[in-house]
Amino acid sequence: MQHPGCVWQWIWPHIGPESPNSKRTGVLNCELGMSKTFDIGLERLTGGSGFSIGTKNAGVEFGAAAFEPLQGTIRGTFFLETFGCQMNDHDSEKVAGVLLSRGYRQVESPESASLILYNTCSIREKAAQKVFSRLGEFGVQQNDGRIIGVLGCVAQQEGEEIFKRAPWVSLVCGSASYSKLPELLGQVEAGNKRVTGLDTDTDETFETPVTRRDNPWRAYLTIIEGCDKACSYCVVPYTRGPERSRASESILTEVRQLAELGYSEVQLLGQTVNSYKDPTARGMRFSELLLAVADEPGIRRVRFTTSHPSDFTQDIVDAIDAQPKLCNHVHLPVQSGATRVLRAMQRTYSREEYLEKIAMIRGAKRPISITTDIIVGFPGETEEDLAETLSLMDAVQYDGIFSFKYSPRPHTPSLAMSDAISEEEKSRRLATLQETQRLIQTAKHEAMAGETFEILVSGKSRRENQWSGHTSCNRVINFTSQETALLGKYVQVRVTGATPNCLAGEQA
Ligand code: SAM
Ligand code: SF4
Repeated sequence: MQHPGCVWQWIWPHIGPESPNSKRTGVLNCELGMSKTFDIGLERLTGGSGFSIGTKNAGVEFGAAAFEPLQGTIRGTFFLETFGCQMNDHDSEKVAGVLLSRGYRQVESPESASLILYNTCSIREKAAQKVFSRLGEFGVQQNDGRIIGVLGCVAQQEGEEIFKRAPWVSLVCGSASYSKLPELLGQVEAGNKRVTGLDTDTDETFETPVTRRDNPWRAYLTIIEGCDKACSYCVVPYTRGPERSRASESILTEVRQLAELGYSEVQLLGQTVNSYKDPTARGMRFSELLLAVADEPGIRRVRFTTSHPSDFTQDIVDAIDAQPKLCNHVHLPVQSGATRVLRAMQRTYSREEYLEKIAMIRGAKRPISITTDIIVGFPGETEEDLAETLSLMDAVQYDGIFSFKYSPRPHTPSLAMSDAISEEEKSRRLATLQETQRLIQTAKHEAMAGETFEILVSGKSRRENQWSGHTSCNRVINFTSQETALLGKYVQVRVTGATPNCLAGEQA
């Protein structure tokens, strides 16, 4: 399964910048619950047999009860489809929480919904186009009384233009305005046909009293919204607005509640998660927050993504060293191995500075997996620049990469740059990059044979005795066990086989 312009070269659930698929919230299965790449690996390893995540009672998929409204009366039904990164996934969990607490019931198809929402992604052109094709599906049925809303990055990027392109849409709301969502929904419910939430000049983060989480053991928590960096190719600062950090006490209170509900793994999210600045008098640093989250009783694993190299400091590595509950995995996007290209991308670090950060992480007391994002075909990228990227990959030996063909985006400085690379050439460079990574991963995985890892079991195959889960370094291992109730448990698994993209094992 391959996303246009992007290749998922390793099974890294929850850290990927963008899903190859949209997630139709309400159809809770592997794809939705475990995020994008989970099912890819399982399919490959099991020859297509379906896996599902279960409830804490094990073995049973989430049923309709999980989607019942929190109030007595049903105001309507909603269908929510999510495109894009895990921040979008989590925003959708919160949007679903808002709707449930307003008395809506979640349904599994747009056909049976009175309110249809698309939470969109515009990081690359093809992602944005998908939303308009979805909206087109409703054009012919526009008078049937259903309310259609566009949320997220495409909403922010296109604004009121969406009403022109799809007049049957009633709500357009960017992620920076989600804190106003209850009010905006009120206007839609009152019959207003053109409701917008497009402000980005807000200090508020999107906190909800209820979040309808898709996974019963691993919970997302956004700790910082927006982005203050200005990478020349990236639409995020435009669509998500300036950086806003959430109060540390509010984060810790939510972590406590999650632990009480039985969640043992939390993943702190932000476009530049490690740029976190506690806005309260407590003034917690990011590394202090990590340690405080890990200290909450019941929490066994803490992840965080995405880290920006410029803000990645020694104290984060020290925190990982000091606290085994902090997972041994860092996602550190490099984008290019050539300083010349990094400068044009306005990435705020050079190749050498990036490699210093890698050396800092490699200096940790325990091995830490490192993954990255790389863009090929940025305007003016030469063969020599590409060779520098390949040599950097060789030097770092990444555990996984997300690779993308450069996609020109509106409202970004690189849109005006000359020396565009042809699509054909971008594809060729992408293939070269992927082949390099395939060889690196093959060697890494082969070296893991015989090793034992602790994994959190989160998937069960329809095939007997087949399970799946994640290591601390966020690798997925598909394994066999004779036990019958493993979902949500931590078990030791010995690796018995590997491909470039998968590990297979048996319970130790
Ligand atoms: N904030 C993160 C960082 O600094 O690396 C990344 C967030 S961005 C949503 C996820 C990834 O999408 C980026 O790391 C980059 O590789 C890719 N990306 C962003 N804009 C892109 C564009 N215009 N064309 C291709 N890939 C892009
Ligand atoms: Fe985009 Fe750069 Fe901000 Fe990441 S750091 S979200 S790539 S602008």
